[in-house]
Amino acid sequence: MSLSKNEWVLGEIGKLVKGCELCTLSVNRTNPVPGLGSPNATIMFVGEGPGANEDKQGKPFVGQAGKLLDHLLASIAVSRDDVFITNIVKCRPPNNRVPSAEEVRTCKPYLMSQIAIIRPKVIVTLGSPSAKTLISPSISISRIHGKLQIKEGLRYLPMYHPAAYLHKRSPDMLQAMKDDFKTLAKLNTQLV
Ligand code: URA
Repeated sequence: MSLSKNEWVLGEIGKLVKGCELCTLSVNRTNPVPGLGSPNATIMFVGEGPGANEDKQGKPFVGQAGKLLDHLLASIAVSRDDVFITNIVKCRPPNNRVPSAEEVRTCKPYLMSQIAIIRPKVIVTLGSPSAKTLISPSISISRIHGKLQIKEGLRYLPMYHPAAYLHKRSPDMLQAMKDDFKTLAKLNTQLV
């Protein structure tokens, strides 16, 4: 079966990520995690960076945070297979620390290439580092989550990171995430 252009290009980006040694995160990784999902996704999720489970499996959001993400997706009747899920850095930062500015700068071209080929209707940034990287460094996630942001012709919907809820267990935060997913569902049907 022949590959579509998007499948082929995403595969090539994946190969580049797998061989990447441009920053020191490559030294300690078990597997790089380029991203996974539909090459024609209308929704793209961008997290912070792979954790221990993702590093083991080479797939994004396969641990507890991924389970919550799946649950939130199910709440708007969207399947993981219909979206594309990736991170701002493709290799696990040691001890799950926040990726450094230099690591983000080095890895960002892979993400921007994935965005350019998929051209999703909405890019959901999960957590503060993702929003700060893609939207604006001065962003406050608690103020702008769930509000559509436009930057350089791309639409972003910032949200809390599922891991932030798992850490805090704040019912208000969970409600905010559910509400933001409803906003996402609406945008996905309204936007072209
Ligand atoms: N957290 C992230 O930001 N990304 C993953 O892939 C998993 C957990």
